[in-house]
Amino acid sequence: MWNVLASLGDPGILDWYLMWVRRPLLGPIAGSTPLMEVLEDILDLDFRVSETDDFIRLVSGERIVFGSIPLAHRYGGHQFGMWAGQLGDGRAHLIGIYMNRQGEKWELQLKGSGKTPYSRSGDGRAVLRSSVREFLCSEAMHSLGIPTSRAASLVVSDDEVWRDQFYNGNVVKERGAIVLRVAKSWFRIGSLEILAHYGELDLLRTLLDFIIQEHFPSVKATEPNRYVEFFSMVVSKTAQLIALWMSVGFAHGVCNTDNFSLLSITIDYGPFGFMEAYNPDFVPNTSDDERRYKIGNQANIGMFNLNKLLQALNPLLDPRQKKLAAQILEGYPVLYYTRFRDLFKAKLGLLGERKGDDDLIAFLLHLMEKTEADFTMTFRQLSEITQSQLEELNIPQQFWALKMISEHQLFPAWVSQYLLRLKSNMNDSDSERRKRMATVNPRYVLKNWMAESAVRKAERNDFSEVRLLQHVLQHPFQKHSAAEKAGYASPTPSWAEDLRVSCSS
Ligand code: AMP
Ligand code: MG
Repeated sequence: MWNVLASLGDPGILDWYLMWVRRPLLGPIAGSTPLMEVLEDILDLDFRVSETDDFIRLVSGERIVFGSIPLAHRYGGHQFGMWAGQLGDGRAHLIGIYMNRQGEKWELQLKGSGKTPYSRSGDGRAVLRSSVREFLCSEAMHSLGIPTSRAASLVVSDDEVWRDQFYNGNVVKERGAIVLRVAKSWFRIGSLEILAHYGELDLLRTLLDFIIQEHFPSVKATEPNRYVEFFSMVVSKTAQLIALWMSVGFAHGVCNTDNFSLLSITIDYGPFGFMEAYNPDFVPNTSDDERRYKIGNQANIGMFNLNKLLQALNPLLDPRQKKLAAQILEGYPVLYYTRFRDLFKAKLGLLGERKGDDDLIAFLLHLMEKTEADFTMTFRQLSEITQSQLEELNIPQQFWALKMISEHQLFPAWVSQYLLRLKSNMNDSDSERRKRMATVNPRYVLKNWMAESAVRKAERNDFSEVRLLQHVLQHPFQKHSAAEKAGYASPTPSWAEDLRVSCSS
């Protein structure tokens, strides 16, 4: 059933690079939550297999699939703007690569599965709350159409894990958990940075050629400019990814270079957050004192990180290629803004190009900021309200986010500009507009309070809300009665106003 390859590509090339870890991974297990879509569509498994002991042993790291050699990956990175030296998979084990029926290769990784040679002073573990958040959010992001790692299962352990959640000296016993997560590749910018930093240039070249061959099929292996072409693709895809994050109000929280994928997928979910009241200064991570990774700075950080990638590639480039690559990087802001504009135009249901589109978007965001209107629901409710209701400024009670923004004295001015712009849409109707907008403006995103509520129950072995969220967030654009009942499209409940998340996980 499992066709797990033993290592990445040719072991002769990569065993230098990847540290081999041969150890049983974990202790006792309390229960598991598998994800049908990933198990069936990616891993070709019958969902019922998740009820077997073998499966639970496998996804908890207690048993290793025959032929698999668990690996931990060595990487470095810039953390909060500074070179942090060697980091590496301190609590993740790559257990193999699976080639599925469609011929896709997926790297299977356990997170929270115990110590590795890169654990430094860490315990190699992950707590239940952070595992539930990663498990739910990675799948939610996938369903929003955002490139991401995926989650196949979540297993709770009876092992005790000790954490000082808010770094205030209050160390508390928490429950450990392990997520089986999968991605086409787990290589990060930091994977290349560490090799360049320590002058391991042969290995850097070998690894880059491997990554290009495996994941960038349009770049020819024999092409002398292949590293520049690779860089150009990463620049473009990173710009697209961050624009997508912004379009759903997602703040990653820890955009260090070791958390930025070379395939430009969202990885390493930690203290992320979906912005509620629109605020470009939104910071999900309470440990981020300088507010470096606030939502409105993510695009700039993308540029910073790509610049670090370029520095890692530089030892392999000749002067002409260096210049070319630097020019490519200069094109990043335009790539980002072009995608951002397209996404926000779609969120507003605008067709074609018109002068003033940027202003219309910026004007709305300004009103949202001033009125602290909910980002997700303002756009969603604009997808649900009819043009004639807008025209009359007659906003029904259920459109609570629009009600908030409508309190601004300039709201009528924005509405009239918007309605005028909608008139210039060719071959459109109001019902078409609403239908179109409802496919890009989610009704449900994983707000912090929803994750927290599910986590609190999971801590008591009640996984009902994890499962509900899992189900609802798989179809974020469709109204769902249980989700409505749970308040997932309602204003944030008052008990959750002061919720915080930190790096401690
Ligand atoms: P993160 O912020 O989760 O992306 O982690 C940053 C670095 O710290 C990575 O190298 C992780 O592997 C490592 N790390 C985080 N938590 C632990 C832990 N509990 N034990 C060992 N290493 C950890
Ligand atoms: Mg990380």
